[in-house]
Amino acid sequence: MSASPAAASGDAGGPIPPAASAPSTLTAAPHTPGTVWFVGAGPGDPELITVKGRGLIERAGAILFAGSLVNEAATRWAPAGCEIRDSKDMTLDEMAAWLIEQAARHATVVRLQTGDPALYGALIELVQPLDAAGVPVAVVPGVSSAMASAAAAVESFTLPELTQSVIFTRVEGRTPMPEGEDLAALARHRCTLCIFLSITLLHKVEAGLREAGWPDEAPVLVVHKASWPGEERIVRGTVATIKQRCRDAGIVSQAMVIASPTLGSRQWPELTKSKLYDPSFTHRFRRASVPAA
Ligand code: SAH
Repeated sequence: MSASPAAASGDAGGPIPPAASAPSTLTAAPHTPGTVWFVGAGPGDPELITVKGRGLIERAGAILFAGSLVNEAATRWAPAGCEIRDSKDMTLDEMAAWLIEQAARHATVVRLQTGDPALYGALIELVQPLDAAGVPVAVVPGVSSAMASAAAAVESFTLPELTQSVIFTRVEGRTPMPEGEDLAALARHRCTLCIFLSITLLHKVEAGLREAGWPDEAPVLVVHKASWPGEERIVRGTVATIKQRCRDAGIVSQAMVIASPTLGSRQWPELTKSKLYDPSFTHRFRRASVPAA
């Protein structure tokens, strides 16, 4: 049994409360803190928020959004009278204090995070002070920019017999990397690497891939503002060329770097196809229609 305030409140993580028809119903009963929902806003396209996330915005009494990364359009569904605050100039303590204060006044408070809240989102740092204050929290997942970048470029992170694993990582900037997680060590797996927060550190990406034995001509993909309407840009290059290509394109922020043996497979004449759809493969929902080769 969990003793966390969220579990004790009985509502966090459950179905969204009924839609508020008037601003007054957005207000929590006195002394009952509302729930702070950490909602993944998705990668940029406002249509890529989940139905659940959008529903919460529609009934939010207050929304704190990460203005430097979240498309402000995501707040377009907020009800009249909703308090909307951009967190880009706030410290973590200020954000926590604001959320606690809003939860005292409203039944539904939303913290809108870019992509999915579980990735590089300072989620736990914000949840801890809310736990300490007895404010229930819940998380709604979002479409990560890693997935939106694959979609933008029509790429697959996994291909049969080539790679079946994906690593989400970053290179060391001001945040140190834990031991064993430097890019060269991870790249030795030769699987798909989604490298966040590293567009200004492409020299380190290049060095890490080379150190792990990736050849000069291994493909590397950069997607800037994946899914942002009218702003998305795709740069394709190799270990040897990607840095210069991004420089030429002037891409210096909000970009995903993907290194993978699967890149460009749309153009390959020979693919090892998935067993699941192979006519000689029997599984729970389909009998083989031809004998195995
Ligand atoms: N939680 C987010 C990641 C936040 S860290 C997620 O799941 O996507 C911020 C980093 O995410 C940026 O430095 C960039 O590497 C990446 N990023 C965020 N939005 C992006 C977008 N629309 N296109 C490409 N990369 C993006």
